[in-house]
Amino acid sequence: MKKGSAKKAAPRARPTREEAEQAVRTLIGWAGDDPAREGLLDTPGRVVRAYEEFFAGYEQDPKEILARTFSEVEGYDEMIVMNDIRFESHCEHHMVPIIGKAHIGYLPDKRVVGISKLARLVEVYARRLQVQEKMTAQIADTLQEILKPKGVAVVIEAAHQCMTTRGVHKPGVGLVTSRMVGAFRDDPSTRREFLAVLNMSGSSKLPNT
Ligand SMILES: [Zn+2]
Repeated sequence: MKKGSAKKAAPRARPTREEAEQAVRTLIGWAGDDPAREGLLDTPGRVVRAYEEFFAGYEQDPKEILARTFSEVEGYDEMIVMNDIRFESHCEHHMVPIIGKAHIGYLPDKRVVGISKLARLVEVYARRLQVQEKMTAQIADTLQEILKPKGVAVVIEAAHQCMTTRGVHKPGVGLVTSRMVGAFRDDPSTRREFLAVLNMSGSSKLPNT
């Protein structure tokens, strides 16, 4: 396999851990506190370690996750749906959490993947700085590109803490985004079937058509 060829550009010069911790001290000072205060001494180190977890998705190639597909589906040509895939992401405008659920459906054509792969695909894109619309499209487009199914549907519902804890302060506001590809876009009955499965599962805020 052509290792490394999937990566787009050479990695840009990454700041050192010490530089990252120093940046956190700067933000603590900007917030109005004293980064040298005892209770805050270990905070920069913890924040940087948390960032390693929050943004681990940059280290992973989503296409590699789907690379091992099971191709013998024995004529199975019904829709495959995995719903309620919980994720935590961070909005790229404010760097605060987006917490939500992804629902994925696809109509296989020879290839299927294990359901754990779908969850990992969501996680890889979630663990990056995101906008919900972009993440929805990335998941759908990657599935379409690698599995080449007859169609893909991705619906994401999420709450954005940049809307609930600052700015307009609207608690409980959820944003629903969707991306329909192939049969899910072109065939209303396929789309309806997918949305019906989601509604049956009790996901409440989904669009009806
Ligand atoms: Zn935001």
